[in-house]
Amino acid sequence: MRIFTASLATESNSFSPIPTSRETFEQTLYFKPGEHPDRGTLCTGPLHVARRRAKQEGFELIEGSCFWAEPSAPVSQAGYESMRDEILGQLEAAMPVDGVLLGLHGAMVAFGYDDCEGDLIDRVRTIVGPKAVIGVEQDPHCHLTEKRVRGADVMILFKEYPHVDFAERADELVTLVVKAIRGDIKPKMSLYDCGMIDLFPTTREPGRSFVDKMQRLEGRDGVLSVSLGHGFPQGDVPEHGTRVLVITDNAKPKGDALARELGEEVRAKRGTWRPPALSIDEAIDAAYAEPKGPVVVADASDNAGGGAASDNTNIIRRLLERGMTDAAVGPVWDPVAVELCHAAGVGATLTLRFGGKTAVASGAPIDGEVTVLGLGKDGRQTFGKAMVPFGDSAGIRVGGVAVALIAHRTQALGTEIFTASGIDLASKRYIGVKSTNHFHAAYAPIAAKVLYCDGEGPSPIDTRKYPFRKARRTIWPHADLPEGQLVV
Ligand SMILES: [Zn+2]
Repeated sequence: MRIFTASLATESNSFSPIPTSRETFEQTLYFKPGEHPDRGTLCTGPLHVARRRAKQEGFELIEGSCFWAEPSAPVSQAGYESMRDEILGQLEAAMPVDGVLLGLHGAMVAFGYDDCEGDLIDRVRTIVGPKAVIGVEQDPHCHLTEKRVRGADVMILFKEYPHVDFAERADELVTLVVKAIRGDIKPKMSLYDCGMIDLFPTTREPGRSFVDKMQRLEGRDGVLSVSLGHGFPQGDVPEHGTRVLVITDNAKPKGDALARELGEEVRAKRGTWRPPALSIDEAIDAAYAEPKGPVVVADASDNAGGGAASDNTNIIRRLLERGMTDAAVGPVWDPVAVELCHAAGVGATLTLRFGGKTAVASGAPIDGEVTVLGLGKDGRQTFGKAMVPFGDSAGIRVGGVAVALIAHRTQALGTEIFTASGIDLASKRYIGVKSTNHFHAAYAPIAAKVLYCDGEGPSPIDTRKYPFRKARRTIWPHADLPEGQLVV
């Protein structure tokens, strides 16, 4: 048995001001065959799990290139095509294969391609033929298009949000692909469109119970896998929205019925999946009203993980204006300010301008007399079993606010964003993190309370505010809830 694997992944925010090229991927995560490290991350889960399983189960794994870029604007056409063709060329050289494992994000858009993953899967199929088994792992913030679901044999999404379960889901993917190659199962996929889009954190109800329910359904009565495709609100593509995917062992009518049943549950609970977002002032009031800290306040409106610049200054400015003390905010992406702080040195006081750089939605930069609390080189933060780089960093204090500046744009995943540059979190009352929900895995354990706020940054919490041109406006909350429908 011969299986080929590769990864091509990013989450394209159609409204991000940050361009994305092949070089953007190369600067974030790019491993050619023979260069893959021992530790996997979200999009390289299939490769690392299959490497272990190949040794245990005696199949041959052919490793292709893996690419990942921090979310930003749609990828240049030449960039996407060169990465895609690099992987396809490796696959052609590896032929014949019995199966293909792809680690995709699922919300990549390129100039000329609204559905990069559908395009890639289609071309993989042309090379491997109808008999080979194509298995795909995706992030739930993907666009589950009809083309990609019809093109692949097995598709599994992370269930948890924060996505700490990428390795477990990759393990399931390898299991189903190997079984399908052996002829032990005949996977059939059913896809149900919920006619809506929402945000589905699984650290609260009803998301927590829904994940548990999906897992209880798997492995019995012919149900092989159940996934919820949350959709990606900032992706302006025709098949934008939330969809349920069910895989059965050659029992399509059963899969169709289950996908519909689960989809109807998602629809009935619309509007309750996400936590309420406080205003900036409401969040400050609520955090300092708690008898003890630290209170972690997440701002999803400037989440680099969703393609925002992560240099918006609204919350920091308001904390300063109100004279709040014992606050920390991060990460703020500002490579120039990081460089200036490194030149000044730990303990130095300097006049610094930081943040507010990338676009109007970043707000105005902050000018202040700052003290350098600490400096970090080539920082990495922990996220589940993965380590995610954030580059050089600088911790500064301006007024009563400590700010974590970073040189490599990413969201707050691990607490290292702050601690690597000398910011002590335990002593803080207010910890502001730029992240939608991935922060929760590392920050909830140190928080007296977790709050969510709308920092009025570049990614509006209210998805109706985006100037969509291609996405359907016929789905909730853009319109009244339409009928749900079976797509595949
Ligand atoms: Zn995601």
